[in-house]
Amino acid sequence: MHTAFSASHETFREEVQTFLSRALTPELKRAQQCCPGIFLDYEYNIQWHRILHQQGWIAPSWPKEFGGTGWDLAQRYIWTTELTRAGAPSLAPMGLGMCGPMLIGHGSPEQQAQYLPRILSGEDYWCQGYSEPSSGSDLAALQLNAISDGDHYRLNGTKIWTTHAHYANRMFLLVRTDNSGKPQQGITFLLLDMDTQGISVEPIVFASGTHEVNQVFFDNVRVPKANVVGQENQGWTVAKYLLEFERGGGGAAGMQTALSRVRELAGQASDGYGEPLSAQPEFEVKLLEAEVALEAMLFSEFRIMAALSKGENPGAESSIMKTLGANMQQRLTELAVEAIDYAALVHQPEARDPGQNVAAIGPANGIVAFPRYFNLRASSIAGGSNEVQRNIMAKLVLGL
Ligand SMILES: Cc1cc2nc3c(=O)[nH]c(=O)nc-3n(C[C@H](O)[C@H](O)[C@H](O)COP(=O)(O)OP(=O)(O)OC[C@H]3O[C@@H](n4cnc5c(N)ncnc54)[C@H](O)[C@@H]3O)c2cc1C
Repeated sequence: MHTAFSASHETFREEVQTFLSRALTPELKRAQQCCPGIFLDYEYNIQWHRILHQQGWIAPSWPKEFGGTGWDLAQRYIWTTELTRAGAPSLAPMGLGMCGPMLIGHGSPEQQAQYLPRILSGEDYWCQGYSEPSSGSDLAALQLNAISDGDHYRLNGTKIWTTHAHYANRMFLLVRTDNSGKPQQGITFLLLDMDTQGISVEPIVFASGTHEVNQVFFDNVRVPKANVVGQENQGWTVAKYLLEFERGGGGAAGMQTALSRVRELAGQASDGYGEPLSAQPEFEVKLLEAEVALEAMLFSEFRIMAALSKGENPGAESSIMKTLGANMQQRLTELAVEAIDYAALVHQPEARDPGQNVAAIGPANGIVAFPRYFNLRASSIAGGSNEVQRNIMAKLVLGL
């Protein structure tokens, strides 16, 4: 397998590195280092968003006519890799990675003209209203009720685990408009303003102490029918299309960076006998196992990229990569916690607040290791659990 990038791609990489060395401020890097979650709080998210928007590089995966960069797959891969290597903030995907591509694929020209520029500029910040208390994996069982009321719907019910609903000014969501057929029928895809009367957002705080997700309640919320994406009762097709964007995407390069941070921590930590933990054979084997698995993931990403550039569909590969990625993310957080040892026991949220100047107890670069360990337990659940991904693989790969 030929994995080297062409000379023009290497020139592109240099251009990206030059841009990042100029645009990525120490404050933004520190905010990302201190972030215990998957993506940053709005305050830092939007700063980085605006910088990328000004550069014209905010939506590399969108078609050029909608504001994309026109980069080929290899350039996009280089871009993602260099971002994570440089420690750039990870932007929330709900607008740029989910709602935008969904509107490009299924939105009306009016919806595209209204919403896409505002996603690009950062004026709109979206959240995803799919899951409900009794429908997560079994999404088609959702019950948030939308009753026809002239040229509006009236919504009653609740959504749960809604990431960043407390920051968002817009939500894309699935509602039930008909109960008579199969569960997949009678679902409608809607867009709404979060400041509409009758919406309330209640925080759910994680064991790591962070507030990322919420429960959102709807009490007679009126939403114009013009906000339906696609057709009434045909939302399932749009919902599935969007999920492909939620599950796709590579991450091995970012995890290689995370592994190098674990190595750094283990190099600073003592094994209890005066040697660094990284030199202890048992721990070294764990690091090497992770390194080999990541190398295999990287090659799988190259293989998928080659297939996509030939116009092939990744199919079950996105489920395979989602599962491998979630497991590896969790493994890396376990190794980081092992490396910081008893410092993991100290609860010190002030020290990881980028706006405060509080010294860390234990290694400063290990300050988020334990909250991140807790936080990333969710990676094998959010966006479709590992078990559900395995069901997809069993069906598509093994034909079961
Ligand atoms: C951090 C985080 C952020 C999230 N953000 C959002 C968001 O922004 N918007 C949104 O809509 N949702 C969001 N979610 C919800 C997420 O998509 C769901 O948690 C997920 O789909 C699982 O649903 P559930 O929690 O209802 O678990 P359940 O579906 O109740 O599953 C419980 C357990 O049963 C297993 N299981 C269920 N069905 C099967 C089956 N058929 N075969 C085998 N095992 C099965 C599951 O794997 C799991 O282990 C988020 C979740 C988390 C943790």
